[in-house]
Amino acid sequence: MSDLRKDIMAGVKKVLIKVGTGVLTGKDGLDLTIIDNLVEDIAEITRKGCRVVIVTSGAIASGKHRMGITGKLKSMPEKQAAAAIGQSRLMRVYSNAFGKHNLYVAQILLTMSDLTDRARYINVRNTLSQLMEWGVIPIINENDTVAVDELKFGDNDHLAAMIANVVEADVLINLTNTEGLYDRNPKDKKRAKLIRIVREITEDIEAAATAEADPVGMGGMRSKVVAAKKVTACGIPYIIARGKKKGILRDIFAGKEIGTLFLPVADHLNSREYWIAYTLRPRGKVYLDDGARNAILHHGKSLLPSGIVKVEGQFNMGDPVLCLDTEGKLIAKGLVNYNSEEVEKIKGLKTSKIEQVLGYKHYDEVIHRDNMAVTRDKRL
Ligand code: GLU
Repeated sequence: MSDLRKDIMAGVKKVLIKVGTGVLTGKDGLDLTIIDNLVEDIAEITRKGCRVVIVTSGAIASGKHRMGITGKLKSMPEKQAAAAIGQSRLMRVYSNAFGKHNLYVAQILLTMSDLTDRARYINVRNTLSQLMEWGVIPIINENDTVAVDELKFGDNDHLAAMIANVVEADVLINLTNTEGLYDRNPKDKKRAKLIRIVREITEDIEAAATAEADPVGMGGMRSKVVAAKKVTACGIPYIIARGKKKGILRDIFAGKEIGTLFLPVADHLNSREYWIAYTLRPRGKVYLDDGARNAILHHGKSLLPSGIVKVEGQFNMGDPVLCLDTEGKLIAKGLVNYNSEEVEKIKGLKTSKIEQVLGYKHYDEVIHRDNMAVTRDKRL
């Protein structure tokens, strides 16, 4: 048994458990025995005083099964309709399983825009905290019925990574249908070795995650590793393990060497930085001179107009914008205080000239340090 694992798990007061479609379903639709087993472990974890949030998949697969459809669902409306059918069944199954342990569940369905909008993000966070305070288990899924491509998390690995930050989880456990991350495609059974611990997500690690998607779920290993990168960047350990194994959560909590553990980045992003870095889509770019680059990277400074040499894209005040150095390397991402036309006019100028050029000055900084996530140690 590993001391490192034990140490990590001993400090866990809040856990996010993501359960993949491949874990929850068998050839007869939702696998009630597996769900009962998982719920039994979760009930035990909560009895010990740990708060649990679940991100679950399985709605589409369950709905499809209900409708007796065996092939792939092709159109968006088909998937959305299947999700609507399956989601209620999924919740009923969870609710019954938790009910046996006198625990209540709450359904939360989200789209990407619920988290990119700061006010809605805060509402989601407050609701989740209230549920946890009441000892209720929040069960989250993507709101597949209304989400269209632009608004989609894409897969629940991504959704879970975002929620881990919302609830400031102490660990994210991603339960899937493989043992963890292998050093090569696990189909090559003789040579593929399970990677027990990942201290840094290097290019080799990214290459190890095959692009091959999970036959029933959405993401496959690639999306789990992309999610691991985000989660560990905000200081949260991340474990990938086989969900169908009986007692899997109990074993993980006991610190057993199970699945793949990704260690958190030491110099990690705080919650707001993470939100800026990973939840928001950039709307434009500003290129910085060396002075501004160093001031941001090494001296904790804000971005002033004088350090900007070039502006790209159309953005409004408050939009997320990438800051690049003259060679195009990413330095930071932040929320701008001026729109792209204004930045175009004031770039290269001293702060004292802003009012003269624009006729007003709302802020000295184009991006204030508090609204910026800075890249260090490949954090972004
Ligand atoms: N939201 C989808 C469902 O419940 C699953 C997405 C995923 O597997 O990543 O069926």
